[in-house]
Amino acid sequence: MSVLVVVEHDRGAPSDASREALTFARGVSEQLATPVEALTIGAGGDAAELVGECARFGAGAVRHVAPPWLADYAPEAWGDAVAAAVRALAPRAVVACGTDRGNEVLAQAAAALGLPFVANCLDVRVGDQWHVTRVQWGGSLNEDAALSSTVPIVSVAHHAVEPAPVAAPATLSATGLDVHLDETGARTMIRDRVVLAEGVTLATAPVVVGGGRGVGSAEGFAVLEELAGRLGGVVGCSRAVTNNGWRPHADQVGQTGTRIAPQLYVACGISGAIQHWVGAKAAKTILAINTDPEANMVVKADYAVIGDLHEVVPAITAALGGGGGVT
Ligand SMILES: Cc1cc2nc3c(=O)[nH]c(=O)nc-3n(C[C@H](O)[C@H](O)[C@H](O)COP(=O)(O)OP(=O)(O)OC[C@H]3O[C@@H](n4cnc5c(N)ncnc54)[C@H](O)[C@@H]3O)c2cc1C
Repeated sequence: MSVLVVVEHDRGAPSDASREALTFARGVSEQLATPVEALTIGAGGDAAELVGECARFGAGAVRHVAPPWLADYAPEAWGDAVAAAVRALAPRAVVACGTDRGNEVLAQAAAALGLPFVANCLDVRVGDQWHVTRVQWGGSLNEDAALSSTVPIVSVAHHAVEPAPVAAPATLSATGLDVHLDETGARTMIRDRVVLAEGVTLATAPVVVGGGRGVGSAEGFAVLEELAGRLGGVVGCSRAVTNNGWRPHADQVGQTGTRIAPQLYVACGISGAIQHWVGAKAAKTILAINTDPEANMVVKADYAVIGDLHEVVPAITAALGGGGGVT
């Protein structure tokens, strides 16, 4: 009987999402006085680096489900694997990170098991009935809810928890879990990958310089590119920008774009609509540059410069000289 953590990975490469899930699960396991057990699914799920990370973040055991046909991420098959693991291991609870994948897999598993699933939790209080606080409406509302289930299935809101390793990790190897999975579950599976950007990406960059409608044109992004380059970061944008065709959708920050968590987000000419804010709010520090002192982004930012971005951004770049960069 354990808290079973569904570990997200990319063909064996661990992700911060899984470190967050394991850290959150430790809080649940302490309340239940039961150990944390990691579940890895698919090719690479028994990779030494991944298993080591599971141990480093508090897992006491790693179970691995990988039929030969499960070569890559497949949402239904991963959901089937979680359901099969729940039947085989009878855990006290199941936890994953509330990324698109984590929520997709837990939703599939919960449907297969006929159990409720609570997504994007910030906190759980364990009892006969669980009480959970979860994020709703793209982060604009926290909801307190009660959960009654034989096996509570919850995801922790992405970026809500700072991953924290344990002081004394166990020495682990992955143990195969002998469960039958139907190959039809792999009808949707990643077959190929196209690399759109090498190196630092929007999701992982330590600095993002974002531009909104206030930038005014595709050409207007040149000064943002220069500042981002000086700071060792990348350029992002709002949906107004992608709608105007000034930048590709891959650069969009927000609810229907990428959720970023850089050390520094410089938001230039972006009003800070909730759909944008939800993708930017995990930034450690936000600097807003805007002509409107009442703009939502200005009000919510840690720092703001009220002024024309076409003057302010080049002035910051010039002031940085040859230095800059955030690590
Ligand atoms: C279902 C749904 C999903 C959505 N998903 C997303 C999403 O993922 N990401 C997203 O960004 N949006 C999303 N949106 C759109 C969102 O609601 C906003 O419309 C959008 O974020 C606005 O973009 P913006 O801030 O660039 O433009 P605006 O709201 O027009 O703001 C422009 C800002 O620029 C400032 N400004 C103008 N000129 C200058 C200047 N020279 N110097 C400095 N500041 C200046 C203005 O004061 C203003 O604050 C979504 C909407 C819906 C309905």
